[in-house]
Amino acid sequence: VAGELGQDMGWEVYAVGGFVRDILLARPNFDLDLVVEGDAIAYARRLARQLGGRVKAHVKFKTAVVILDDQRVDVATARLEYYEYPAALPTVELSSIKMDLYRRDFTINALALRINPGRFGQLVDFFGAEQDMKNKAIRVLHSLSFVEDPTRILRAIRFERRFEFQIGGQTLRLIKNALSLDLFSKLSGTRIMHELQLIMAEENPLACLNRMQELGIMEAIHPLLKLSADRVQVLMELGKVNNWYKLLYLEPRVVPWKLYLLGLTMGIKRDQIGQVTSRLRFTTKEEREFLQLRDMIGDALMRLMSWREDKSRLSRLSAILRPIPLEGVLFLMARSRKEHIRRGISQYLTRLRDVTIDVSGTDLQEMGLAPGPAYSAILVRVLEAKIDGRAQTREDQLRLAKR
Ligand code: ATP
Repeated sequence: VAGELGQDMGWEVYAVGGFVRDILLARPNFDLDLVVEGDAIAYARRLARQLGGRVKAHVKFKTAVVILDDQRVDVATARLEYYEYPAALPTVELSSIKMDLYRRDFTINALALRINPGRFGQLVDFFGAEQDMKNKAIRVLHSLSFVEDPTRILRAIRFERRFEFQIGGQTLRLIKNALSLDLFSKLSGTRIMHELQLIMAEENPLACLNRMQELGIMEAIHPLLKLSADRVQVLMELGKVNNWYKLLYLEPRVVPWKLYLLGLTMGIKRDQIGQVTSRLRFTTKEEREFLQLRDMIGDALMRLMSWREDKSRLSRLSAILRPIPLEGVLFLMARSRKEHIRRGISQYLTRLRDVTIDVSGTDLQEMGLAPGPAYSAILVRVLEAKIDGRAQTREDQLRLAKR
């Protein structure tokens, strides 16, 4: 449909970027990026009409998103603007798709696939991407790439570790060169944080973080973020716990960066955390929440030390963990050396936190109790009893509430 529409409108249309890369690597990818050698917005509007979707257009950037039920399609106009390519711009006239691909980060992300009928499926590879895929190499397209955009350093590492590729020799030299020019210190915290979030959402974030440490990037972001052996150990545990939780398909989902950032900032004193969060441009609210989470964890670690599976009750464990956001609970699980605590936390996550009771405020009212703060105390008592297996039925719970 997308190709035929292009043909109708008289424009060449290409699938580009990660979508094409992932086809060649036989990996799933659900974000389709299209580039039109024509008016992307007009094209997107007609595509949406044909497929029954909505369009969000960015007139300024000549791009649009077609939003379908189960997919989104980004559509861009192949760009010709001169000023966007200060680096090594060839003086010869180039087709606009070539120019569009030239501004991209790595050869493997600079592939296009024709989708117009007649040429459907033809690969457009100006920069040797297919060869790089065979060689498992991450290569930039020109030598000023990292100077233009230092976040590409983090992207290079992310793709290298995700696909188990190698950053090419020349590209690695360019990275080291960019780092020695201290380009990272000029990079905004917002952009660094965005890339860190993407890294932490990878299958194996620690592999990326280790590579960053090896290249001196952690300290370049902030000296307090040096990846010590202790932190590596904790991040490894966090990875295991995160994978365990992921396989349970429970709600809510983990926000990976919240989990891993706890490990990355381990050992940083409370009054120094602000240095890191302001480097990463946290808002006041984000910073407050992060500090609160760390405090809650510290407090819970103390309380968990005296929790014994046999003598203490599950309801007590539940009460310790209930106020803590999921990422904090998983962090506690990863940090607990004692097997019984890990087991308890696992029970909490899989079962206890969802326990609900069968009596309500209405029941208490019907018993003749005046509404007030006593209600919640009673309901908590009933909940704890149920968690501890002492009040499974509604009758038991009503009896307990009356006492
Ligand atoms: P992922 O699988 O992580 O989503 P992706 O390649 O689809 O990878 P996006 O961040 O969605 O990544 O970017 C889409 C495309 O835009 C990339 O394939 C690349 O061609 C280009 N791109 C993205 N970020 C940059 C950048 N910083 N510099 C140059 N090109 C970029």
